[in-house]
Amino acid sequence: MQACSSSDAPLSKRLDGKVALITGGASGIGEATAKLFLRHGAKVVIADIQDNLGHSLCQSLNSSDKNNNDDISYVHCDVTNDKDVETAVNAAVSRHGKLDILFSNAGITGRSDCSNSITAIDSGDLKRVFEVNVFGAFYAAKHAAKVMIPRKKGSIVFTASIASVSNAGWAHPYAASKNAVVGLMKNLCVELGKHGIRVNCVSPYAVGTPMLTRAMRMEKEKAEEIYLEAANLKGVVLKEKDVAEATLFLASDESKYVSGVNLVVDGGYTTTNSSSK
Ligand code: NAD
Repeated sequence: MQACSSSDAPLSKRLDGKVALITGGASGIGEATAKLFLRHGAKVVIADIQDNLGHSLCQSLNSSDKNNNDDISYVHCDVTNDKDVETAVNAAVSRHGKLDILFSNAGITGRSDCSNSITAIDSGDLKRVFEVNVFGAFYAAKHAAKVMIPRKKGSIVFTASIASVSNAGWAHPYAASKNAVVGLMKNLCVELGKHGIRVNCVSPYAVGTPMLTRAMRMEKEKAEEIYLEAANLKGVVLKEKDVAEATLFLASDESKYVSGVNLVVDGGYTTTNSSSK
């Protein structure tokens, strides 16, 4: 007999029959989530600007004997472009007939790093960070809501960041943009809850993805080492897959009464650091 979850979906296929759109799905946390969703039975559409990466990821996953040919597909989508996002949502619906899950995950840090004082903020960089991280989240939620509202169900998960709950004192545009994403999530929880749609955030601690290693201007291993040193759970490195697992919970029916939550995946870092002040 197969073990079942509270929603009666087999634990090995927690998204069976669901359709998911993942922005920023060609790399890092989005890529790991796409793979996990696929493994749990979802049809996945990834939307990104890295076309080569996106296409080759889909090709390799679809050619695996575990998957069918259109289980995962790629659509070019710059989330700063309202029309592109609408096209991506429509691509998911026309390919699979519906959209159950939006993982609005595309994000950038901008050029800000720990040496960037507010006195040196570059307006172009500030604008770009907000365009990708905030406008992109707005557009994704807007177009997903349009197709979810008539069906009276859906799960929207935004990737925010530990920067939305703890204050590093640097990377101001990034931190402000992720606080905006959490604000959007809470407000949407109120509006979309009336339509049976849940809205949550996942907020990771540092993961050695291309975004982080670019921002830190160092190799993955070195970046991970630095954050491991600062981590709360000593000896445990946060990986893309760990964030994907938290996202899977928020996306699946197992979290059917969870909405308006910013699920922090930081091994207790925020609590430890705030309680010691
Ligand atoms: P990543 O660079 O590996 O992935 C980000 C993806 O977003 C890339 O595939 C990129 O091409 C895509 N993207 C960027 N701009 C885009 C645009 N305009 N339109 C569409 N796609 C675009 O980095 P990641 O760490 O996996 O980042 C994923 C999310 O996680 C981001 O929102 C990031 O802010 C958040 N996050 C990351 C960390 C971390 O330490 N890596 C921590 C907290 C939060």
